[in-house]
Amino acid sequence: MTRTVYVNGDYVSEHDAKISIFDRAFLMADGVYEVTSVLGGKLIDFDGHAKRLERSLSELDMRSPVSRDALLDIHRELVRVNAITDGLIYLQITRGSNGDRDFVFPDPETTEPGIVLFTQNKPGLANSPAARTGLKIISIEDQRWGRRDIKTVQLLYPSMGKMMAQKAGVDDAWMVEDGAVTEGTSNNAYIIKGNTIITRALSNDILHGITRAAVLRFANEAQMQVEERNFTIDEAKDADEAFITSASAFVMPVVEIDGVPLGDGTPGARSRRLREIYLDESLKAAI
Ligand code: PMP
Repeated sequence: MTRTVYVNGDYVSEHDAKISIFDRAFLMADGVYEVTSVLGGKLIDFDGHAKRLERSLSELDMRSPVSRDALLDIHRELVRVNAITDGLIYLQITRGSNGDRDFVFPDPETTEPGIVLFTQNKPGLANSPAARTGLKIISIEDQRWGRRDIKTVQLLYPSMGKMMAQKAGVDDAWMVEDGAVTEGTSNNAYIIKGNTIITRALSNDILHGITRAAVLRFANEAQMQVEERNFTIDEAKDADEAFITSASAFVMPVVEIDGVPLGDGTPGARSRRLREIYLDESLKAAI
């Protein structure tokens, strides 16, 4: 089915969607994005994503071309016209184009920000077989820029990280800086020791995951404690369990790190429980 996408105020066929070659997201990665999941035709944690988008924009002195309410309407309209039951909505806001290339930001009074949204249909998104087998990961050096808290479209290194994982025959990579794990290529990283979830504290070093915030809120319900601190790959290999979180993977168990199986090499009970709670609670709150 041909998708209907949203481009700068218009709903158009994906084949007719066009942006300028001078768009700063294209030339300079000068744009921010969000990915919101859809389950049962409803949006998961839209408010969290909208808030983070506003923060990313403000950190880059950009403005949104649409209000939060209008953004919600666009998300819902795309779900409706594309008949999405389970899937993802990708949203990107760019600094726009002033018709030329220049390192200096264009005047926001005369250059409109650009906005693009499209859907990705993923039937059975919450029943992914990977949740039953768990993910194998490798560790790689974190070579990204220093403002990873801003969700920019500058995703080349994470993309290279996925390719390194693919080459190594595994599912993903955790990035390591100064001896400590920062996060996964497109997800936040956690280990479990006993009844404690350990994950790096929020700073400019990592993306402030919307799923992370929710899972840490639900830890109580799983009778678990949370420790926000740095951990090393050696500590992770020695952990009882590990998992990742993201808006598209939810909570996904990790069963092997750099060739070392965790526990018996199958998804741990606590990670599975956290996934269950996250999905239950998120579905209840979906809009
Ligand atoms: N870290 C990085 C680097 C990511 O790209 C993502 C997903 N966009 C996350 C963490 C997870 O964030 P969220 O739970 O908001 O999807």
